[in-house]
Amino acid sequence: MSSISVQITFRCRDFVARRFRIGRRRASRTRLIAGTVAVLAFLLIPGHARAADQPHLAIFAQQINYLVNVQLRDGSEYVGLLDVLDPLGQVATHINGKKWTLDFSSSGNRVEIVCQEGKRKCSIRGADVEMAAKFVVSEGHGYVPVSALAEILPRVTNLIANLNVHGRRLLLGISGVHLSSDVLKNPSRLVLTFPSPVKPAVTNEGNTLLLTFTREPVTTTGPETTNFGDPLITSGRFMVVNGAALYLVTATAPVVTMFSEGNRVITISAPPAAVPATPAQPPVTAPVQAQPVPAPTQPVPQKPAAPAFIVAIDAAHGGTETGALLSPTLAEKDVTLALARRIARELQSKGISVYMVRAGDTQMTLDQRASAANTAHAALYIAIHAAAQGHGVRLYTAMLPPSMAVPTHHAFVPWETAQSAWLDLSATAAGSIADECNRRNIPVRAMPAAVRPLNNIEGPAIALEVAPPSDTLEDINSATYQQSIASAVAAGITAIRPKLEAAR
Ligand SMILES: [Zn+2]
Repeated sequence: MSSISVQITFRCRDFVARRFRIGRRRASRTRLIAGTVAVLAFLLIPGHARAADQPHLAIFAQQINYLVNVQLRDGSEYVGLLDVLDPLGQVATHINGKKWTLDFSSSGNRVEIVCQEGKRKCSIRGADVEMAAKFVVSEGHGYVPVSALAEILPRVTNLIANLNVHGRRLLLGISGVHLSSDVLKNPSRLVLTFPSPVKPAVTNEGNTLLLTFTREPVTTTGPETTNFGDPLITSGRFMVVNGAALYLVTATAPVVTMFSEGNRVITISAPPAAVPATPAQPPVTAPVQAQPVPAPTQPVPQKPAAPAFIVAIDAAHGGTETGALLSPTLAEKDVTLALARRIARELQSKGISVYMVRAGDTQMTLDQRASAANTAHAALYIAIHAAAQGHGVRLYTAMLPPSMAVPTHHAFVPWETAQSAWLDLSATAAGSIADECNRRNIPVRAMPAAVRPLNNIEGPAIALEVAPPSDTLEDINSATYQQSIASAVAAGITAIRPKLEAAR
C-alpha cells in the first residue's frame, strides 16, 4: 500500500512541476483552471453562455502527466508532435523543404518520424501511418490531428495508447484509475471506490455535486449515466471533458462528500441534520447504595451525530462583478476562484468536506453568500479576496462589538450581528492560519475589518485577502505561491478543528 502512495506522490509532483513548466511557456496552468470553470458553468448553470476556453489534450503516462494545447485547423483538432513527445524522451526536429523529421529517443530506443507538409500520412520506423487530416507545418512545428496519436504513439513508444478523442485525454502505457460506484441505503449514500488515492475538486451547486479529476486518469466501465433509483441519490454521470474526468452526482437535496481510506473512498450523502438542543441532564450524584443494573428493555436512545465538519469557501466577486483589476490582464474574481479551488483541494486531501459558495463565474449578492454558508452549517466560513497592494496575506475578522450570548447555530439571531457571538473563535481561526503562514515565510497580518458578509455569518468566519508575493503583480497567480497559501490555510484549519468542532 505504501508503495502505491509513494508512486502517486511522485506522479503528482511531476505533474505539478511539469504543468508549472508548461505554464511558464504558455500559461496552461491558468487555462486548466479556466477550462474547469467553463465546464462547471456549462454543466451547472443552464443558459450561462461562455466563450469556449483553450482546449487541451491531457496525457497520462508512467510517472508523468501533462497538457498539450489543441488547435483547430480546417475543422480538425491538431496537436504539435514536439509538444506531445518532448516530455517522454529526447526530441530533435529537422525541416527540409516540405519534409519534416522528428528524432525521438528514450532509454536506448531511437525512432525517426518523417512527415510531409500537406500529406495525410507520416512514416514511422519506415512504415506509413494514415491520418484523418493532412500534416501541417507552422513556424517550424509539425502538427498532426489528435486522432492520429492513437496510431503514432504506440509505434514511437512501444506503449499501449488509449485515446479519448472527444474527451481529449490520452492514457499511454497505463490503464487508468478505475472508479466503481455503489448506492447504499439507510441512510442513502453513494460510495465511490478507487484503487489508488484520488484528489478531485468538489463543487456543490444546489442538488448537484461535481467531482473534477485533473490529476488522476479516472476511468469507468459501463454506461456514462447510472440511474440509482434512490430517493436521495438520483444519478451519477461520468464524462471526460477537455482532459479532465468529471463525475456529476444529481440528488434530490444538497449532498456533501467525505473522503476515507486514504482518499480511496468518497462517500456522498446528505449533510447530517443539525443537532437538536440537548435536554437538561439531572445532576450526577454518587449512588447511596449499589443498585442492581436492570437489563435494558428499550434501545438506548442514540446521541445524534454531530453535524458534518464542512468548511465554506467563498471566492469573492464573479460574473460581471470582476472585483479589482490586479494587473491589466488579471481580474480579482479569477484569482479568488483559483485560490478557493486550491484551498478546497488541500482541505479535501485532509478529509475535510468543502462547500464552494461560488462554483463558477457567477454573480452572487453578499446576502446570498451568507445565506448559503449559514444553510450549509459550515464549521468555518472563509471569504477569499485579492488585492494588488502590499505583499502576502491579510486575515480579517468582523468588526462588531462582542456579544454576551453563547454561540449557537439554532437560536434566532439578528442578521446584522449574527457574527457577534463567534468573534473569539473567528479570531482563533485567523490566528491559526496566520501561524501556518509564518511557518511558510508568507508575510501575514490579522486584524478586524468591516468586510461583508462576515457580520452575517452564524459561525466562525474570516476573510482572507491575498496580495502578490513580490512587486510583480502577476506573481499573485503563481501556482507555487497560491499552493503555499492553500497549504497554510488547510494546516491552520486542521490544527483548530477540535476547537471548531467543540463549538458546534
Ligand atoms: Zn475583493
